[in-house]
Amino acid sequence: MIASVLPTYNRAPLNFVKGEGAWLIEADGRRFLDLGAGIAVNALGHAHPALVEALTTQAQALWHTSNLYHIPQQEELADRLVEATFADTVFFTNSGTEACELAVKMARRHFHDAGQPERTRIIAFEGSFHGRSAAGIAAAGSEKMTAGFGPLLPGFTHLPWGDHDALRAAIDDTTAAILIEPVQGEGGIRPLPDQCLKGLRDLCDERGPLLILDEVQCGVGRTGRLFAHEWAGVEPDIMMVAKGIGGGFPLGAVLATERAGAAMTAGTHGSTYGGNPLACAVGNAVMKIVADPAFLSDVRARAGAFRQKLEGLVAAHPDVFEAVRGSGLMLGLKCRAPNADLVTAAYAQNLCVVPAADNVLRLLPPLNITAEEIAEAVTRLDAAAKSVSSSC
Ligand SMILES: *Cc1c(COP(=O)(O)O)cnc(C)c1O
Repeated sequence: MIASVLPTYNRAPLNFVKGEGAWLIEADGRRFLDLGAGIAVNALGHAHPALVEALTTQAQALWHTSNLYHIPQQEELADRLVEATFADTVFFTNSGTEACELAVKMARRHFHDAGQPERTRIIAFEGSFHGRSAAGIAAAGSEKMTAGFGPLLPGFTHLPWGDHDALRAAIDDTTAAILIEPVQGEGGIRPLPDQCLKGLRDLCDERGPLLILDEVQCGVGRTGRLFAHEWAGVEPDIMMVAKGIGGGFPLGAVLATERAGAAMTAGTHGSTYGGNPLACAVGNAVMKIVADPAFLSDVRARAGAFRQKLEGLVAAHPDVFEAVRGSGLMLGLKCRAPNADLVTAAYAQNLCVVPAADNVLRLLPPLNITAEEIAEAVTRLDAAAKSVSSSC
């Protein structure tokens, strides 16, 4: 008999009932150190007082009105994002995959209205992840995500990661956009080198397509900058955001320049829930903290300390780990032992980590994790590595 919850996930046998900062408490009382943060969602950890306050205050006033009316919290959050980024305009969604849907629609509509309706094709990259909607799986294109779901949304080209010649050859007069994650998350914590992102921007400027960045996982302070592309000193035309922006409340956004967003006039797109008062009250509370340069500088300092300790861990367990990679607090341990074994071994040490493709162990702690918690995490990872190594 099928489970009452559609069994699309292989779940760990854990039932968390409470969260406190970087800690998750199991129903039986065990305290787990959380280096997954709900897959980079709980950017400020669990039950952050400012977020709880924003949510409960808004919950007592007004939950939902729909986008038939002005929503002051939504306008405030849009203003904050416009103020802090390249963007001139923002549309709010409930998830990353909905942000992908709009990013694709926006790029196509831009060229439709610009008198180049043949520009519909989106160039995307192998190993990428853009969500589970029809556009999201077509954009990622992997067999694992698309098998059995055809016919797929047409108009996507997939290129190998880092093949510059293939990219130059693939752009033509039908290309609407290049879509890429500045740091691949699900694909195995693979950062795009700064010069490659600069090269993509130049290529788009030269040849016409829009640059869409998927910062759903790497954005909102995760890399130690508010958005990951800031490291390369270039700006996209369209950017997808979700995960960390809601700190655990479902919230996503598409940010765009005036030029890229101008074709999305009244009636061209919508969302019943997107940007509702509850979600945006929390989003504002997240942005107030995360967009502060002093907070981001602390993230960079914590990330540096964590990375250094992880390098030591890799050196101590050359049979288990191969290398550390990533950016800021979006870190990956490339494994020699099967990453799934390490995830299980970490659970035995009351530690939550997340697997990714390419046999990588993902470490995505809350951005406000303390130095003591980082040290504790490394101690537990060390114990997990020892147990995996002795069972090989
Ligand atoms: C998680 C993720 C998405 C999809 O977001 P959902 O909120 O799960 O729909 C899209 N792109 C990237 C890079 C992601 O990490």
